[in-house]
Amino acid sequence: LVSRKKKAEDTIITINGEKIGEGGPSFIFGPCAVESQEQVSKVAEAIGGKGLRMIRGGAYKPRTSPYDFQGLGLDGLKMLKKAADENNLAVVSEIVTPHHLEAALDYVDVVQVGARNMQNFELLKAVGSINKPVLLKRGLSATIDEFINAAEYIIANGNSQIILCERGIRTYEKATRNTLDISAVPILKQETHLPVFVDVTHSTGRRDLLLPTAKAAIAIGADGVMAEVHPDPAVALSDAQQQMSIPQFDEYYDALMKFMKQYELK
Ligand code: PEP
Ligand code: MN
Repeated sequence: LVSRKKKAEDTIITINGEKIGEGGPSFIFGPCAVESQEQVSKVAEAIGGKGLRMIRGGAYKPRTSPYDFQGLGLDGLKMLKKAADENNLAVVSEIVTPHHLEAALDYVDVVQVGARNMQNFELLKAVGSINKPVLLKRGLSATIDEFINAAEYIIANGNSQIILCERGIRTYEKATRNTLDISAVPILKQETHLPVFVDVTHSTGRRDLLLPTAKAAIAIGADGVMAEVHPDPAVALSDAQQQMSIPQFDEYYDALMKFMKQYELK
């Protein structure tokens, strides 16, 4: 059902008045994790100030170590929703288990399924039966075919509002946290009718690569870019190395807009 052979036209998903998959790239910015009301409110103001329509922030964090910050859960979602409402933003946040889904839907506009859960089939079925868009991230070591099949689980259960997100895969290369598979973007666009995002933060793990990889994503035809922004990245409870501060974010966004104008990409 996700195949271009089944449906030739692009799927367009409307989120908070913005059409994803039509009329140029969209952007999802926000902190790695929700840490406090003040933290998310600062980021939401910076994002809303640019006329953007979405904010991300994890409240259920899938951390490698059980001793690392696990997220604020439902309280975190409430903080994010408040910050989003005050700045006319939609909330994008990860859900890690079907048990959390129903309660979370009061606060979340776009449900993220993270890389570690790309083949959590019960979660895929659960988000397949909701009436909200799903941002599905590529698994750490998933092939493109496995990624497409994960999306198929969602659509097969009735939900066709799916955004695919390339976020880097595991390779032998250590210079970046993961290896951004940029060619996955045109392959996914050819093989499926779904919009495709690139998460430049988790794919590179490097602040200095967020701009060039976002340019590459837009140039190759991605429907959007995701990157992390934190008011004080040095003290962030997760992903401190790669989040942008708000002044860095302002500069970053200006540079991207300039790039898009220069090459008439929007
Ligand atoms: C995230 O976006 O917060 C995240 C944990 O990313 P990924 O699932 O791609 O590692
Ligand atoms: Mn992160």
